[in-house]
Amino acid sequence: SLIIELNGMLRRLNEAFEEQKRFVSDVSHELRIPITIIQGYVDIIQTWGKDDEKLLVESLDSISAETSNMKFLVEKLLLLQTLGSGNYNFDLEKIDVNLYLQKAIFETKLLTQQHEIIGELSELTAFVLTDRSLLSQAIRSIVDNSIKYTNAGGSIRIGSRYNTHKVFISIKDSGCGIPKEYIQRVKERFFRVDSARNKNTGGSGLGLSIVNACIMALGGELVINSELGKGSEFIIVLPRYNFIKF
Ligand code: ADP
Repeated sequence: SLIIELNGMLRRLNEAFEEQKRFVSDVSHELRIPITIIQGYVDIIQTWGKDDEKLLVESLDSISAETSNMKFLVEKLLLLQTLGSGNYNFDLEKIDVNLYLQKAIFETKLLTQQHEIIGELSELTAFVLTDRSLLSQAIRSIVDNSIKYTNAGGSIRIGSRYNTHKVFISIKDSGCGIPKEYIQRVKERFFRVDSARNKNTGGSGLGLSIVNACIMALGGELVINSELGKGSEFIIVLPRYNFIKF
């Protein structure tokens, strides 16, 4: 039994090591692109930009945009790291789910005029004990994706339902959907379904990995149902407040 334990430990260590290696290589890859672009613009300024004001302004704007991208990327990575290491400082409060979602539905309507936003809240409300800012970050990211991956004229439904122990918050779109084989992978860091399909939507492939880390840190689970060409549903499952035992 000692050998089995030792083998198990070595396997877990090896997996952690491989994961760390993959992470470092992903991060280097993601940072290399903006750094190369910035370097390119600096070269342009040095060669022609000093005498060409239009070129100078354009180059400086692009450098500024790339620097902001890098800043957001590093902030996202730090959040992932903090959530993963269990060092996040939670600010827990009791939240009325329907009241909270009514606001989320209202805000989503402000974000897009090209999609139909439909509220499908359950008749009675329920409560969760949670960190408002983490939950909002997760819901915004999912909604943001629904807007990105659903053509104009499509719909986004935001709904709630409950059972005795759990609260289900659902965000369902009528967008392009995710191929079956990738549904689980979209939660991975830097994973994007296919770069051709995504080339106009921007994004780093970190959004859903952060959503997943937020929901897990809140003691919940992120469930994804999707069908290619028909749409996707993201369900945030959280423990219902009345049934949390202290
Ligand atoms: P990104 O920054 O690329 O949007 P995410 O982690 O948020 O990164 O999402 C990972 C990938 O999952 C996206 O690149 C996209 O291919 C797919 N995806 C996420 N949300 C949706 C959605 N609502 N509909 C279709 N595909 C989606």
